[in-house]
Amino acid sequence: MNNINALIETALQAKSDSQKPRNYLGTSSLGDACDRRIQYQYMGIKPDTQFTGKQLQTFAMGHALEDLVIDWLRLAGFDLSTRNKSGDQYGFSVADDKIAGHIDGVLLSGPDGFSYPALWECKTMNNKYWRDCVNRGIALSHPHYYAQVQLYMAYMRLDENPALITVLNKDSAEMHHEWIAFDAQVAQKYSDRAVHILKASNAKEFLPRLANDPNYFICKMCRFNKTCWEQQK
Ligand code: SF4
Repeated sequence: MNNINALIETALQAKSDSQKPRNYLGTSSLGDACDRRIQYQYMGIKPDTQFTGKQLQTFAMGHALEDLVIDWLRLAGFDLSTRNKSGDQYGFSVADDKIAGHIDGVLLSGPDGFSYPALWECKTMNNKYWRDCVNRGIALSHPHYYAQVQLYMAYMRLDENPALITVLNKDSAEMHHEWIAFDAQVAQKYSDRAVHILKASNAKEFLPRLANDPNYFICKMCRFNKTCWEQQK
């Protein structure tokens, strides 16, 4: 059995390795804690370590669960559109296609008491993170997701009505739904950040590190740790 596990994990890694790196700054990364890490990803610099087969399985499970949530929302009466006429995800690109993103969907209509159209975003997480979302709300518990939603609302021009974020607990199947109003200041702040990162990358200048110590907790978990701290500055 373990051999089969290993075969699957190796196959997933091979598939992942064969995928072309993005040649744009992904909006979903703009809420990351570190400018330099976003820059490395945008510049196509290879991380020190690749995702393990198990991590890739977890990401794939998250995507499959999102499809389930789409079915449940439709069953509950929401007209949720997730693909355009060509069958592609809705998305946008700006700054000569250097900044781009894809959204999970748009609620076109649905049960009374809500405003449409509304951007829809779905996340799946384990019990510990899900509980934090419920207790503190997305803006405080997961500010990178909050920034992502604000940028999507701005770039997709879906800012008139609050966006809905659905967070599924992977351990218990509980769901948390939160309506997020547009905050132009936050959207502008992260849009400015994108321009700043693009300019620095074009000039081949690396932005300051997040911390002064490679053992800082975020750096310790960063897949660019070695690359980053072996650089001169
Ligand atoms: S190691 Fe730290 S400073 Fe360097 S890219 Fe990663 S998070 Fe940023």
